[in-house]
Amino acid sequence: MSTPVLRVTDLRKSYGAIQAVGGVSFEVRPGEIFGVIGPNGSGKTTLFNCMLGQITPDAGRIELNGDDVTKLGPLELNRRGVGRTFQTLQVFGKMTVRENLIVAAQEHQGTMWSRMFAPGDSGLGPKADALIDQFRIRHVADKKAGTLSYGQQKLVDIGMAFMSDPDLVLLDEPCAGVNPSLVSGLSSLLKDLNRTRRGSFVVIEHNMDFVMDLCHRIMVMVEGKVMAIGTPAEIRANKQVLDAYLGN
Ligand code: ATP
Repeated sequence: MSTPVLRVTDLRKSYGAIQAVGGVSFEVRPGEIFGVIGPNGSGKTTLFNCMLGQITPDAGRIELNGDDVTKLGPLELNRRGVGRTFQTLQVFGKMTVRENLIVAAQEHQGTMWSRMFAPGDSGLGPKADALIDQFRIRHVADKKAGTLSYGQQKLVDIGMAFMSDPDLVLLDEPCAGVNPSLVSGLSSLLKDLNRTRRGSFVVIEHNMDFVMDLCHRIMVMVEGKVMAIGTPAEIRANKQVLDAYLGN
């Protein structure tokens, strides 16, 4: 079997007496969309922040494509192929959609600040245009991002994460703030990106219909621990999960 893109082994992180993540282990396979669900305070964000190098776990191991990356910071992880989207929008409102995408790739290459003072797309235009077409936002490509609807800005935000051709994208509540009528379109887009760009995704999300529709496998966290990992059908049928979480 091929090496997992991500392997997390017995990860632990406490804040004083609060054990936010208490011995979590899982693997994400190449090309897999892996969902992380759980009630508020179950440790999802802490787990994400460990995987992104934003906080150092107290114990445990994180491997990316077989390499130990447990102690690496966000920049190094980004260079090694980890992309992310945030719960809140990170677009530059005064730049056009196309410029936002180009700057995201320059940031990944470490050339952003020099390029921002020297206009030009540094050869990244065709890549931005391919994403603009895939995201179906051609009609707003030359508009300033700040003038777009929240849903459109969210698409730009997600597009920015894909400009660096990541192996692994961590999506933090992609549905947050998105109009419910656009959620199924977002799911289709992410499935299309997953199919055409070969990356693996880890998605934290509270919208259960979205998670069940999008993800190949789902991990349920409760009180910092893994309650279950399985396909959407297995998770829906898991009595312990129903009692503790889904049945509420
Ligand atoms: P939500 O769904 O509400 O975002 P979550 O599943 O992401 O919740 P975390 O934010 O990881 O959960 O929090 C897990 C536990 O750790 C909670 O009890 C939280 O109060 C605690 N916690 C998280 N970050 C800190 C911190 N910086 N300092 C102290 N306690 C923290």
